[in-house]
Amino acid sequence: MDGKALAAKEKGLLKEKTAKLPRKPGLAVILVGDDPASRTYVNGKRRDCEECGFYSEEYTMPAGTEQADLLALIDELNGREDIDGILVQLPLPNGLDSRCLLDAIRPDKDVDCFHPVNVGKLFSGQTGGFVPCTPGGVMDLLHEYGITAKGKNCVVLGRSNIVGKPMAALLLAEDGTVTVCHSRTPDLAQKCATADILVSAVGKTGLVTGDMVKEGAVVVDVAMNRNAEGKLCGDVDMETVAQKASFLTPVPGGIGPMTRATLMCNTYRAACRHLNVSPD
Ligand code: NAP
Repeated sequence: MDGKALAAKEKGLLKEKTAKLPRKPGLAVILVGDDPASRTYVNGKRRDCEECGFYSEEYTMPAGTEQADLLALIDELNGREDIDGILVQLPLPNGLDSRCLLDAIRPDKDVDCFHPVNVGKLFSGQTGGFVPCTPGGVMDLLHEYGITAKGKNCVVLGRSNIVGKPMAALLLAEDGTVTVCHSRTPDLAQKCATADILVSAVGKTGLVTGDMVKEGAVVVDVAMNRNAEGKLCGDVDMETVAQKASFLTPVPGGIGPMTRATLMCNTYRAACRHLNVSPD
């Protein structure tokens, strides 16, 4: 399943729709410290904003920045009318309380869908929140290939707040029967073998091999790992799993670009709500 192609299509559509808005959607990204991977992600988000015709601002702060200064910045951005979405790039350097900072973002500007109000809406099936970016990107990609979770056995590997738990919520909301596995799950291979749709979000290269996968299963690899040669790869052993799966996402070019496209969709939706116009 080609996430790169669908992400490009989604961003193209957003550009067209954005041109009709009275002002550009605005995204503010806060980066603290000098983690190279975070810098790469933030650069990518800036490029995505340019492609979609959005306004973007970037705040690059030194690793020693005080919590109070970050809270003051979030407070200022919360009050700005030209900023529709605020994103704090994770992970934050030690000593900063990410939960407290994420909770300070106004729920209507929480385009990453980390605020308890939006997480609560997601898990209780209420509308009006945001779709979490990585799991939302997975669902869009499945739908693009005509795949729905309805009536399917779905197995999610990983139970993080960023990927595993919201992934399970979206699959369940679409009437999938969902099993969530984690580091304490016994007999992972046997759980995986039950999956019509298998989503792996663990961060362990080579965790999922062909012998664990049911013939014809849909396999989504969310992970972004580096192999021994330093090459980007996922959890799934592509060679053996490709022989069994009916659909499979590559790494790179699968869920990574879809995550970023969903962030752009959320920012556009936030702007539409702030401007009181229909997103369609
Ligand atoms: P995380 O917070 O480290 O969570 C990893 C999860 O995997 C935990 O729930 C952990 O279980 C579980 N786990 C660890 N070892 C396991 C094992 N042997 N068998 C089954 N489960 C196991 O990571 P994350 O933030 O969710 O990210 C997961 C992966 O996705 C990473 O590779 C990350 O880089 C990638 N990612 C990609 C995107 C994207 O845009 N494509 C976005 C976000 C994350 P416990 O809870 O028991 O510890």
